[in-house]
Amino acid sequence: MEFRLYDTLGREKRTFVPLDAKDVRMYVCGPTVYDFAHIGNARPVIVFDVLFRLLRHLYGAAHVKYVRNITDVDDKINDRAARDLPGLPLNEAIRKVTEETGRQFHADVDALGCLRPTVEPRATEHIGEMREIIERLVAGGFAYVAEDHVLFSPQAMNAADSGLPRYGALSNRSLDEMVAGARVDVAPYKKGNTDFVLWKPSKPGEPSWPSPAGIAAHGRPGWHVECSAMAWKHLGEHFDIHGGGIDLVFPHHENEVAQTCCAFHRERMANYWMHNGFLQVESEKMSKSLGNFVTIHELLADWPGEVLRLNMLKTHYRSPIDWTMKSLEESAKTLDDWYRAAADVAPGKPASSVVEPLLDDLNTPLAIAALHGLRGSDVSALAGSLRLLGFLSESAAQWEGRKQQASGVDAKEVERLISERTAARTRKDFAESDRIRDLLAAMGVAIKDSKQGTTWEVAR
Ligand code: AMP
Ligand code: ZN
Repeated sequence: MEFRLYDTLGREKRTFVPLDAKDVRMYVCGPTVYDFAHIGNARPVIVFDVLFRLLRHLYGAAHVKYVRNITDVDDKINDRAARDLPGLPLNEAIRKVTEETGRQFHADVDALGCLRPTVEPRATEHIGEMREIIERLVAGGFAYVAEDHVLFSPQAMNAADSGLPRYGALSNRSLDEMVAGARVDVAPYKKGNTDFVLWKPSKPGEPSWPSPAGIAAHGRPGWHVECSAMAWKHLGEHFDIHGGGIDLVFPHHENEVAQTCCAFHRERMANYWMHNGFLQVESEKMSKSLGNFVTIHELLADWPGEVLRLNMLKTHYRSPIDWTMKSLEESAKTLDDWYRAAADVAPGKPASSVVEPLLDDLNTPLAIAALHGLRGSDVSALAGSLRLLGFLSESAAQWEGRKQQASGVDAKEVERLISERTAARTRKDFAESDRIRDLLAAMGVAIKDSKQGTTWEVAR
């Protein structure tokens, strides 16, 4: 079966052919580290983790390189550091904010069952590569220096003769329309109203680095050039897959393509551009003002990470997803059942009924339907398939124990009550045995009597 992926640039599904099957390369835009990541941010992390796992399955773990950056220079980081840690010098406060947020991000996405990428480059460690790209762009006539800024000119790019993509091709926009529709009150140092920043001056006290040639003052990079630099350093001028959320197509990814292709005189930056759809909560756009803004951290207090993961993968990655409590509850029940059936079983090969939908542009809803089918027919293939998708990281007992812990149920106390109830039943004191059953139910514990004895579980 062919492996096909939808490419945002070509606007179609295409057979995936890696540039080098021994070195398959993927870049995904990572977090800007200034605050807890929300559940929308978890979507690209989970989706591209599934793709990473599938690529490893197909090409071998040693032959896939996954790069996801950490943006640790940004106005939002500076603002947060100044607000939360006013007693510290700004640079120290920034370091604290980025380190703590980065740690929190790792804890969150580890709990979601995501593998760490092969490389997690930090923007501030790639300033040299950014300067080099910027200098190449200025030398090539695609960018210019003005008032201590360096600006990229999309118009210069589209006026260049050949061998370059057209600015606007990825986001399917026409540069002429962008020019016509742009704001008129653009910054005075910009020659064209669609020109974007590659480098800018830092305010006093803000992080700053030696600027590209032609600028005496220290400054800092624009956001888009960070990703061009990190992708270049770790994956080369041209690689296989570039991913992120749909909101990044324009301007972020359009500008990344422009920078990289113009700096290295290339027709392409990545062969496949992949974008996940947006997540909304209970049918509403997630926002702090609506009060429906949920962090991964908050959700993890109530749900195991694998429940969040399954809930995310029930929807195809390109469709919008409506994140609801009802769906979470269903996902939790499904995983409880899969854990009971398959967590302690020796995993077999992932079933082709699960792998084949994944090969069709990561059709996870269809793969999950196939998992339900395996539940009744082949639990060893179910176990192997679930592991391929990043589930079953715990034993059945650990899973059950965690549920009990999360619910605050004291397992020892439950066992004691159950043996009291068994004793009451033996002496035919049914009033007492019913009383104990009701007491357990009030504690959130469901019991089941069988010939082998009484078993119990925490009812969600
Ligand atoms: P940001 O921190 O806003 O740059 O976002 C980090 C990643 O999360 C990017 O790939 C965004 O496209 C993605 N993202 C942000 N909000 C959502 C959302 N509501 N649904 C899906 N993806 C999102
Ligand atoms: Zn990026």
